[in-house]
This record gives sequence, structure tokens and C-alpha cells, in this order.
Amino acid sequence: MEAVKEHIQAKGEQAQLDLFQSTQKIIKEAVGYLGYSDGMYELLKEPIRMLTVRIPIRMDNGKTKVFTGYRAQHNDAVGPTKGGVRFHPEVNETEVKALSMWMSLKAGIVDLPYGGGKGGIICDPRVMSLGEIERLSRGYVRAISQIVGPTKDIPAPDVFTNAQIMAWMMDEYSHIREFDSPGFITGKPLVLGGSHGRETATAKGVTICIEEAARKTGLELKDARIIIQGFGNAGSFLAKFLKEKGARIVGISDAHGALYNVGGLDIDYLLERRDRFGSVTNLFHNRISNKELLEKECDILVPAAIANQLTADNAANIQASIIVEAANGPTTWEATEILSKRGILIIPDVLASAGGVTVSYFEWVQNNQGFYWTKEEVTDRMRDVLITSMNKVFATAEKHQVNMRLASYIVGIRKTAEAAHFRGWA
Ligand code: NAD
Repeated sequence: MEAVKEHIQAKGEQAQLDLFQSTQKIIKEAVGYLGYSDGMYELLKEPIRMLTVRIPIRMDNGKTKVFTGYRAQHNDAVGPTKGGVRFHPEVNETEVKALSMWMSLKAGIVDLPYGGGKGGIICDPRVMSLGEIERLSRGYVRAISQIVGPTKDIPAPDVFTNAQIMAWMMDEYSHIREFDSPGFITGKPLVLGGSHGRETATAKGVTICIEEAARKTGLELKDARIIIQGFGNAGSFLAKFLKEKGARIVGISDAHGALYNVGGLDIDYLLERRDRFGSVTNLFHNRISNKELLEKECDILVPAAIANQLTADNAANIQASIIVEAANGPTTWEATEILSKRGILIIPDVLASAGGVTVSYFEWVQNNQGFYWTKEEVTDRMRDVLITSMNKVFATAEKHQVNMRLASYIVGIRKTAEAAHFRGWA
């Protein structure tokens, strides 16, 4: 059993390494298109800072357990770094590094005054008590407090972290610094300086990208058949918003498996029955596998769960005409090339899931000003930002005759590269 576990873990780490290396490869190409030197690529190919911490936590049984955590800061030439904190058993250094690089790209695409950052702790909050999760959240902040802060590096929620965890982290940081610091972290509850619309921002952003992609390809969203892999924060709100637009959600999935019905699934029922970790398919006997779901018939496929789902192994079998990536890193570079050659439109992760960081930025701006916006103001501003960004990426793909992923990287890395150049770093 242990050997099987180790084999699966090694396979996962190799996949992360492949993804990290292909990210470097695309950044290199993008830097080349922008006309920068090899020195610029050397600067941007890795995070400038990577902190590994070991956090001792008193567990409920009275014993101490030591957790490993990371914080990566890709580049701070533009401004403070920004990105979520992930609590997951499969977190590893390579993944956190890659995620911080994607955050720089996202911030560049939506034109925010940030560089990319990311954090993670190797843990499984599904089997921890709330008290243990609180102590771990506070311990992590104490461990990384020297390198984070409202003008240095601003964390946020990610997989298996939420507004309550952000509240504990903000409270711990405020104690350490001895002043109330809402701008230290985003994704907080509204009463602690959170922003309207933050919880649904990623899904709203993906919905806007889907509407735009459908418009550009002449697909009618009403009755369009949509598959969503993942039913967590991103996937479940997305299912709700798309259903409200009249689309037919024919497939959804979670870590236990998938449901598919060409006539459309009862999304309201599934939303009502899902647990707080985004699981619902375990309640059904007629589940299929995640792998099978991805290859089912649909118009739009939205990977909204984990990385490395569309690969050279299944790219030829995907039936969707549009893929919109809500998850980070769901498609390998090889799969991107196969799918693009097949004429499938891909709206890449660094663009499609940028709604979250955009509203996180709005939250930070509101905290800095002490002046809070309405839900409508947040939504309207996000829509403007995403549509402008999407048009920039489409125009770049057209200008350089490249696929949408490379075009996104060209748009995304430009701001960091320019800032680093002006500062005289490369
Ligand atoms: P979440 O933890 O709320 O939900 C994750 C979902 O994926 C759950 O339904 C879970 O059951 C499912 N899942 C887990 N392992 C799986 C597996 N092996 N196969 C299939 N499904 C599996 O996470 P989230 O916040 O919805 O994030 C999902 C993805 O979107 C991640 O890649 C995340 O980085 C990305 N993302 C999220 C946000 C955000 O604001 N929530 C922003 C940008 C990107």
C-alpha cells in the first residue's frame, strides 16, 4: 500500500515538474517575441524568492505534528507579489513555484500593479478539526511574516482554503505587526474588509470569458452543452451562472467521479447536496470516471479542478469546440498544440481564471482607501477588465499567428519584463 502511494506521489511530482518546465519554455518563447535578451529569461524563469517553512502544531490528541509550507514570490519588479495559499496533501515546491509564475502572468494580462506569488502547506484539511486548521493557519503566517505584508506580498484563498482561514491569517498578522492590517490578505469575510463578489469572482470571470468566446465563434450560449470538471468554489458557481444564462450543464465531476446526462443535469439539486469540499458525485451509483467525462460530447469543456487533465493521451479525443480553463494548468503544452491544430479554441488559465485576482486587487484597493464599493461596481469593473484583456490576447494571437496560450504569455509577461528592464535588472 505504501509503495503504491509513493508511486502515485512520484507520478504527480513528475507531472508538476513537466508543467513547470513547459511554463519556462513558453515564457522563453514569449520573452523572445517581445525582443528581450536571454538575461531577461534568466530572471523570469524562476521565482526570485522561495521560502520553505516547518510549522509545529499541537494536534487535538495532544501530540505535535510538523507541517511543511512554502511561499514563492516570482517577481516584484511591478509591485508587491500576490497569490493564494493552498492546503492540500499533494502540495510541493515545484507546484508552488509554477503557480507563482502563472500569477505573474495573470496579473500582467489583467494589468494589475502586482507580481505573482503563491503559497501552500502539505496537509489535508478534510481530516483536520477546525481548531487544528486555525492553529496551522496562524503558524504559517508567523513562519512567513518576514516576507509578506500589504506592500510586499499579499496572500489569498486557493484550493481548500476559505474566508475563515483568511480571517485567522489576517488576525495573526495584525497581532504580529500590532496594527489592524486588512490589506495583508484578500478573500476575507465582508465584515473584515472583504469585497463584494470575491467569493464568486473566479466563476464570474470564467462566465464572461465563455460568453465572449461563444460570441467570437458564433456559438449560441442558450442550450449550449457544457461539461465542468470540478464542483468546488470555481466549478459550482460557474454551473449556477451558466445555467442562469440558459446553457445546458451536461456533465460535472469531483474527486470521486463524474455525472453525465446529455439532456442536462439538475444543477440546483447538485448544488444543494454538495459538501463544503465540493463533493457530490459520491451520492450517485451511475458515476463515470473523470477521464471518461472529459471525452464526452459537449460544446464547451471547462476544466475547473486540478492540473494535467488534458494531455497528449486524450487531446485527440476531446469533442468540445471551446475549452475554457478555470483550473490552473489543466492542459499540457503538447495537448495545447494538438487541440489548437484541431481548431479548438482554448481560453487559457492565465486569462480565464483571472477574475479571482482582479477582485482580490479590488479588495486590496478598498482596504487601502477604507472606502467600499457596491456589488454592481465590482462586477462592472471586472467585466471591463476581462473583456479588455481578452481582446488584447486575441489581437496578439492574430498578430503573431500563435496559439492562445502563447499569446496570453506574451501579453502576461510584458509588464513584468518592462518593469524589470526600467529598474535595470535585465
Ligand atoms: P475547491 O477546493 O473549491 O474545489 C476543487 C474541486 O475539484 C472539488 O470539487 C474537488 O472534489 C475536485 N477535485 C479534486 N481532486 C480532483 C481530481 N483528482 N479529479 C477531479 N476533480 C477533483 O477549489 P477551487 O477554488 O474551485 O479551485 C479549482 C481550480 O481552480 C484550481 O486549479 C484552482 O487553482 C483554480 N482557481 C481557483 C480560483 C478561486 O478563486 N477559487 C482562482 C483561480 C484559479
